[in-house]
Amino acid sequence: MAQDDAQSSIEILSLEDKLGRNVFKIDKESPHIVIDHDICRQQCTLRPCLFVCPAHLYTFNDERDEVFVDYEGCLECGTCMIVCEDEALTWHYPRAGYGIQYRFG
Ligand code: SF4
Ligand code: SF4
Repeated sequence: MAQDDAQSSIEILSLEDKLGRNVFKIDKESPHIVIDHDICRQQCTLRPCLFVCPAHLYTFNDERDEVFVDYEGCLECGTCMIVCEDEALTWHYPRAGYGIQYRFG
């Protein structure tokens, strides 16, 4: 096969495409991120978790006055745990066999 043919057969993926190929095995029985909402309400005004997650998994529910994390799409980077200086998050890696399976590194 000529080099040009080989290069043209290589698929060039965007970051979003690469992330979209990851596979998640969801642990419904034991979420690996749990939020203590009382600590959030009493101690945190800036809510940095809403801004730092690379997968945009944190949202704020005005009606419930609660931060919500969609842990099922977690990339397991640990950033939210680091920025939560009030220690409202209980964070651990998912149990063996669960969580993200990266397909591109
Ligand atoms: S950073 Fe921590 S304490 Fe602040 S809203 Fe997020 S989870 Fe709650
Ligand atoms: S560990 Fe990373 S990807 Fe997962 S919720 Fe926290 S910031 Fe988002």
